[in-house]
Amino acid sequence: MPASSASSASSSETPAAPSTRHVVVIGAGAVGLMSALHALDQGLQVTIADPGRPGGEHASSYGNAGWLSSHSVLPPSEPGVWKKLPGFLADPLGPLSVRWRYLPRTLPWLLRYLVAGSTTARISATAAALRPLLQGAASLHKAIADQAGVGDMIDLGGLLHIYRSREHFEADARGWGIRRKLGIGWQELSAQELHAREPDLDPAYGFGVLIPEAGHCRNPGAYIAALAAHACARGARLTAATATGFRFEGEKLAAVLTDAGEIACDAAVIAAGAQSKALAAKAGDKIPLETERGYHAMVLAPEGRPRTPMMIMDRKVIATQTAEGLRVAGQVEIASFDAAPDWRRAEIMRDLALKLFPALPRDLPANRVRYWLGRRPSMPDGLPCIGPSSRSIDIIHAFGHGHIGLGSSARTGRLVGQLLAGQAPEIDLAPFSARRF
Ligand SMILES: Cc1cc2nc3c(=O)[nH]c(=O)nc-3n(C[C@H](O)[C@H](O)[C@H](O)COP(=O)(O)OP(=O)(O)OC[C@H]3O[C@@H](n4cnc5c(N)ncnc54)[C@H](O)[C@@H]3O)c2cc1C
Repeated sequence: MPASSASSASSSETPAAPSTRHVVVIGAGAVGLMSALHALDQGLQVTIADPGRPGGEHASSYGNAGWLSSHSVLPPSEPGVWKKLPGFLADPLGPLSVRWRYLPRTLPWLLRYLVAGSTTARISATAAALRPLLQGAASLHKAIADQAGVGDMIDLGGLLHIYRSREHFEADARGWGIRRKLGIGWQELSAQELHAREPDLDPAYGFGVLIPEAGHCRNPGAYIAALAAHACARGARLTAATATGFRFEGEKLAAVLTDAGEIACDAAVIAAGAQSKALAAKAGDKIPLETERGYHAMVLAPEGRPRTPMMIMDRKVIATQTAEGLRVAGQVEIASFDAAPDWRRAEIMRDLALKLFPALPRDLPANRVRYWLGRRPSMPDGLPCIGPSSRSIDIIHAFGHGHIGLGSSARTGRLVGQLLAGQAPEIDLAPFSARRF
């Protein structure tokens, strides 16, 4: 049974007494670092293993849209999407595309993905499971960011969804109705109210929905780097190593195996993002984890920008003014982790930025735009895997957060800390079990 949901943002004000129990956190993205910080809160010795630099461009946590969206409870697919499958295959530049060559491998995942959003009942069940994981996301991040000395990177000023008209918003009634039932509130903005808040926005958008409870991170890459530095300042050891498996002594975990030798430990956390599947298999769980690739285009020193980060509902992409520039992020491309980027998709994001913010110059010079490919770690049902592995309770899964991994990382870290300390998790973890498939 879960313990009652904790209201305080962090436990680090009253850290547990130091223990000799040693945990290796595999992966230094948002999920791994939040897990590491909460393991430190529990008094554990912590090693973080990752071959990449925390906050680096290789990780999904670097280039996302920065949304800390406690209301992002709907799975990515929706009823009727399956009818569009031929289009996904035919149009490599559509909002969701599947590379032909990859189709045979991904087909079982894709079918589950389509089924997960096929009925209102299924979508409602996913939303009910995600809400406790996401609730309070922005304030949880704010508290951790404050402790890490980068509180100014987290903004608690809400998030916007923008539509062309109220009619378009009303056509989305199912999703908003599910949110309302879960207690998510919003403010509706007329065209005049929307453009008073967003003076640079294309006038073609005439209706807004403001979610006051949500927030955003102004610079995800720098935030991740700051969390890593904070964990190290609190005693965690960061090691540049790729985890390859585990060594057990009987039923007990003895070490994490890496390309730089083994690391003796009592517990491990698999938080390797889209590369968690092989490690999970070594911990006894066959997981349908897929790489849902997305892109961003970032315009440096933009002449027009959003005041509040906004999801463009007819394109399902997000425009956010980050500390580095105007970032337009989104799209879903199903292809292997290592497949070459298709930068035309990122150029679509750039072109959309020009449409959304007409003050941007039509002849935007190439040196003012940066492109990025990211790899979301995605489960077909839109729910991450959080909880003990089948092989050993000493190995905790913490991956598969898909489109919401930055926002949900803060609560995930708390849950991992509670599991490592043998405490009852503060929310029900049954929907996130690795054995649900
Ligand atoms: C375009 C785009 C926009 C997005 N926008 C948002 C948003 O606005 N809000 C939101 O909440 N989410 C968003 N997301 C999703 C979010 O970015 C991810 O869900 C999240 O970053 C996943 O975090 P992670 O820590 O699980 O994985 P990652 O950040 O990918 O980190 C995994 C780490 O594990 C390391 N690793 C891999 N294998 C090993 C190994 N064997 N040994 C050791 N280390 C290993 C990697 O080097 C990497 O550093 C977006 C994603 C994309 C692509």
